[in-house]
Amino acid sequence: MTTSRPRSEALYKEALEHIVGGVNSPSRSFKAVGGGAPVFMKRGQGAYFWDEDGNRYIDYLAAYGPIILGHAHPHVTAAICRAAENGTLYGTPTELEIEFARMLKASTPSLDKVRFVNSGTEAVMTTIRVARAYTGRNKIVKFAGCYHGHSDLVLVAAGSGPSTLGIPDSAGIPTSIAHEVITVPYNDLAALDEALARWGNDVAAVMVEPIVGNFGMVMPKPGFLEGLCAAARRNGSLVIYDEVITAFRFHYGTTQTFDGLPSGTDFAAIEPDLTALGKIIGGGLPIGAYGGRKDIMAQVAPLGPAYQAGTMAGNPASISAGIACLQALQEPGTYARLDQLGAALEAGMSEAARKHGIALTINRIRGALSTHFCDHPVTNYDEAQDTDGEQFAQFFRLMLEQGINLAPSKYEAWFMTTAHTDDDIAFTLQAAERAFSQMAR
Ligand code: PMP
Repeated sequence: MTTSRPRSEALYKEALEHIVGGVNSPSRSFKAVGGGAPVFMKRGQGAYFWDEDGNRYIDYLAAYGPIILGHAHPHVTAAICRAAENGTLYGTPTELEIEFARMLKASTPSLDKVRFVNSGTEAVMTTIRVARAYTGRNKIVKFAGCYHGHSDLVLVAAGSGPSTLGIPDSAGIPTSIAHEVITVPYNDLAALDEALARWGNDVAAVMVEPIVGNFGMVMPKPGFLEGLCAAARRNGSLVIYDEVITAFRFHYGTTQTFDGLPSGTDFAAIEPDLTALGKIIGGGLPIGAYGGRKDIMAQVAPLGPAYQAGTMAGNPASISAGIACLQALQEPGTYARLDQLGAALEAGMSEAARKHGIALTINRIRGALSTHFCDHPVTNYDEAQDTDGEQFAQFFRLMLEQGINLAPSKYEAWFMTTAHTDDDIAFTLQAAERAFSQMAR
């Protein structure tokens, strides 16, 4: 099967006239996979998408993560419709928000208090403000390759060297702001210690994706998170977990209540001070949330001096979709099933790659996996960069032509959804086999 997409091509041309770059998020462009028109989708149902030309795709993008139940899940759709019928936005508190806050707190003991916002970016941005307000310090430590949204402070790259003050990763961010961020390699406690020894007096927080989802799926090495938390505490800095991707991804809860098997990390033994959430908790509608220790969250207005607000925050549609999504995820067997789908895909792709002599490292954590065209493990950003982007681009296109929708970037994960079937996996493996065979020529 080879898809033809004249309408996507035409729409892309038109979109370029009106929308900057033709897309409303740069990750949707095909720039990293050789350019050209991205696929314009028209409809999603379960594990499938149909594009504007009527081609069907099995979807592993899952909208960069939130669509863990597949597209248009009936329970979520019904909740959104009910909410819309009662008015989508009030600008007043609602009982629904309390119900959802209770659900999040019940999943994660470190969340004494929460606040709903509209995106992961907002959630992370505010945790930093709150940490600064609480500690009276300015700098944060982050890890190279971790993505925490597009606010100024976290859109910085590492300079050269194991532990560096950040350099802006985008135009429009003053160097003075980037200098408030120290970037160290993920899974490298020595580099963290070095950073804290040098700048520690001014470090408000150490921010981390406890399991990385932004340069592939990468597990913390045993002892890394434990050491990170201990080092931050010794230094009087807060620990912020960015769980925008990880929350409700691997089990019902955050990494903080994850058994972590077989990684060797005792996730439950470590508790961050603040946590940022997003993606899955909105069931496909815009949402973010942050929360943490009561005394720290007391910094936030109207209780405290750290200001954060939102016209759309806690809107009944997003909250209703979120509640419905988490209810559906509580169905027994949900995560075992996602794990099983992921395992089948990992095993089949590894085997097919081996058969055709393609060097492929697959990192998988239950229903999320990443494919790295290289012959070495991927445990940090340098190793994720040191992979064959051209090979990925070729693979991406060969899969797309066979009706498999992946993220157009070698760093993004594949997400299993509860809507994927064994037949979908088998179809995907056949497509991968053909792709590898062509790549090997
Ligand atoms: N943190 C992490 C770990 C993310 O992966 C993302 C988005 N990919 C964000 C924050 C930002 O979330 P949003 O796109 O909803 O602003």
